[in-house]
Amino acid sequence: MKPLLVHIGELAAGPREIEFSFTEQELEEHLEDLAAPRAFHRVKGILTLEQIAGAIEVTGHMEGFITVQCSRCLKPTRVDVPEFFQFIFIEEPDHFDSETELSGNDLETAFFHGDTIDLEPHIWDHVILSVPMVPLCDEACEGITYPKGKELRAPLENSPWEALKNIKITK
Ligand SMILES: [Zn+2]
Repeated sequence: MKPLLVHIGELAAGPREIEFSFTEQELEEHLEDLAAPRAFHRVKGILTLEQIAGAIEVTGHMEGFITVQCSRCLKPTRVDVPEFFQFIFIEEPDHFDSETELSGNDLETAFFHGDTIDLEPHIWDHVILSVPMVPLCDEACEGITYPKGKELRAPLENSPWEALKNIKITK
C-alpha cells in the first residue's frame, strides 16, 4: 500500500478523501500471531479528512474482515472490521501542563507534529481492536471435538507398539 501520509497544508482548500486497501501480505504481516495460518483477510476503506479550527477530524469507513483462530477449537474465524471510526488530530503541545485537557469528549484524540500526518498506524489500531480478547467461531463452540464412537486409544495392530502385546510380565 502506498503510504497514507497527508500534508496538513493540503486540507486548507477543503475536506479530502483518501482511499486505502491492504494487501493480503500486509495484513498477514501486521496481524502476526493474531492471524490464523494460511487464512484470508481483506480490508479496504475510505478516509475523509477535514480541518476544523486547529484540529483535523478523520472519519473512516472500512469494510472487510480478518481471519483469526477460534480460541477454543482453533478453526479459522472471521472477524469483521469496524464499519465506521473517527478520530481527531491536534497539534502536539510543546509541553503538557495541568491545564491541558485531553479527555474533553469521547472522540479519540491523537497528536501530530510538523506538517504531515501518517494515518496508517491509526487504521491499524482499529483493525486490531476489532479482534475480541477471546475470539470464538461460535458462541456455542465446544472446543476441539474428537470423532464420536471411536476409541481414543489407537489399535495396537500394525503399530510400532505391537510388540508390547507379547511382553509377559512375570513376578
Ligand atoms: Zn470454535
